Amino acid sequence: MAAGGNIQSILVTGGNRGIGLELVKQLVERPNPPEWLFAACRDPEGARAQELKNLASKHPNIVILQLEATDPGSIQTAAKKVEAHLGGSGLNLLINNAGVMPESTLESATPADMLDVYKINLVGPMLITQAFLPLLKKAAQGSSQTGLSCGKAAIINMSTIGGSIGNAPSMSTFQVISYRCSKIALNMLTRCQSLGYKEDGILCTALHPGWVKTELGTAKAELTVDESVRGILKVLSSLSEKHHGIVVNWEGRTVPW
Ligand code: NDP
Repeated sequence: MAAGGNIQSILVTGGNRGIGLELVKQLVERPNPPEWLFAACRDPEGARAQELKNLASKHPNIVILQLEATDPGSIQTAAKKVEAHLGGSGLNLLINNAGVMPESTLESATPADMLDVYKINLVGPMLITQAFLPLLKKAAQGSSQTGLSCGKAAIINMSTIGGSIGNAPSMSTFQVISYRCSKIALNMLTRCQSLGYKEDGILCTALHPGWVKTELGTAKAELTVDESVRGILKVLSSLSEKHHGIVVNWEGRTVPW
């Protein structure tokens, strides 16, 4: 299968900038783009969504949805809209990409900081997955593909190597405590989802996109969004049972827990 190919419907959260916007751009420009590409963002009318809106005006298969990861009401409304667009088909691929990384050191982290970041980076993907699960199950049931794959039905949770315990000593200066803790919890959510949804035929994998030049990754990062997303799309097209419930990076290598 070509990178990112043969996936009929995809939803990306945080689709208005950074890695999310680049995913939308590269997916829609493929020779075999998805029939439906749902780009969720929290403020579709805001200045930060302008580039996405420009892109959507040229590609009728892009549907922009309002989705605030901490607001169950907005998630439910987005799920109803997606269901209406799909007209009886399921959703093949859900990419829980939206996330935040505010400053947070061992000394400065407060209960409120920790909970705010958990709400977006962990509770958000959990609620979003719950809301879209019926559509993911429908995609799996309607697919003639055997095994697990993104072309059939999949949940991809955007994680980070910064949430790896095994790798932690080499990243001791990466002092974003709330972020790192939230992402390791997201890894466990991914593992639990993989156990819960295996029988439903839904692939569940966490993905480290590399250190990428975005607002979150900063201009000092190693990779451009173009390089990272090219790698991610290649990896998505190759995911199978052996990647179920683990963390892989943008080059397809397993990230240690
Ligand atoms: P950016 O800061 O560039 O973009 C973050 C996106 O998340 C924006 O679209 C933002 O929307 C959205 N978002 C933030 N909070 C919410 C919320 N409450 N509800 C809905 N959407 C929200 O980040 P990246 O593109 O770099 O990161 C994307 C993902 O990749 C994140 O999960 C991040 O943890 C992960 N990652 C990134 C790395 C990097 O080096 N860049 C490294 C490892 C992991 P808005 O415009 O409205 O703020």
